Amino acid sequence: MKDSSLDSKEKLDYLLYNINKPIVCVKCADEFSNSSTDYKSLQSYSNLDVGYTDLGLQIWCRRHEVNVCHLKFGDKQPEADFRCLEKIK
Ligand SMILES: [Zn+2]
Repeated sequence: MKDSSLDSKEKLDYLLYNINKPIVCVKCADEFSNSSTDYKSLQSYSNLDVGYTDLGLQIWCRRHEVNVCHLKFGDKQPEADFRCLEKIK
């Protein structure tokens, strides 16, 4: 007999942390790699805003006030999932 709750958990695994190619601010990355900060990781040094724009989705560096990435959606609105999923400990 198959455990359906296990099945559904596996289907939602994409909602856990799966980032394998982080998007970073080039200026933050340069400063961090030049050891000009006391932060232990680039992730903690980064200070990014993420949000929708009229054209798509933008990642913005608050520290440097520059665009990091702007994803244009075009005619097709991508599927978005805002559910929060926490790993069971
Ligand atoms: Zn930056």
